[in-house]
Amino acid sequence: MPELPEVETVKKTLNSLIVGKYIDRVTVHLPRIIQRPDDIDAFAMELVGHTIQGVERRGKFLRIILDGLVLVSHLRMEGRYGLYSEDEPLEKHTHVVFHFSDGTELRYKDVRQFGTMHLFPTGEDLTNKPLMKLGLEPLDESFTLDAFRKAIGKRSTKIKTALLNQEYVVGIGNIYVDESLFRAGIHPEQPANTLTDEQFELLHQSIIDTLLEAVQAGGSTIKSYVNGQGEMGMFQHQFKIYGRQNQPCEQCGTMIVKTVVGGRGTHTCPRCQVLA
Ligand SMILES: [Zn+2]
Repeated sequence: MPELPEVETVKKTLNSLIVGKYIDRVTVHLPRIIQRPDDIDAFAMELVGHTIQGVERRGKFLRIILDGLVLVSHLRMEGRYGLYSEDEPLEKHTHVVFHFSDGTELRYKDVRQFGTMHLFPTGEDLTNKPLMKLGLEPLDESFTLDAFRKAIGKRSTKIKTALLNQEYVVGIGNIYVDESLFRAGIHPEQPANTLTDEQFELLHQSIIDTLLEAVQAGGSTIKSYVNGQGEMGMFQHQFKIYGRQNQPCEQCGTMIVKTVVGGRGTHTCPRCQVLA
């Protein structure tokens, strides 16, 4: 599943491709992708005649900003956007097509069909589902050490589980949680409310550093993820812990183990991440 860095890459790519484009027509081939409004004809009609002004991100959601509207899009497992000429044949699993006045089309493909789109009038998306309950943005100035502690410091759940909860901190999924915890030397099963001041500081910085590096590398390429232009990201080679079970830890040489924490596959170095 794309996490913050991958969505950030899609956002940047879309900003370079679709800003200023005028929507002539919208075709929906798979109604269940469209969550709001209920009626897919209304969804298509509302978008016609609007121009794309920019693309932003909130957590793992894309916010496609139009004049008077915001389209909130979640890629979930396998969703992808691509810009095509209208002459190009539709590929399999293309569920939504935005036809632009210049003869190009933004196409949304999704093999797994878990992706969602919600359309709102300007100003209403952030205060409604699915964005309303989202927590801190880890790459925003508002993600201070203090704010981070307030969000999770009193939780008795395992730190990994707390970090995966999008109501506390957004955008970090299974990959970047494992990477951040390893970097901070914290065991994923340590209860959040037992972290020391030093551990909180280390973890806060590790989350920021891990995500920034991944954003810079253009997002990772786990499974079939590609960015909006079909380019593969390069970050996959830089994982220090994720997917490296039964390989030696780069820091100490101990074999990395894979366990299950909170129902999620979890990678830990038994020596660098000791359960306190
Ligand atoms: Zn180690």
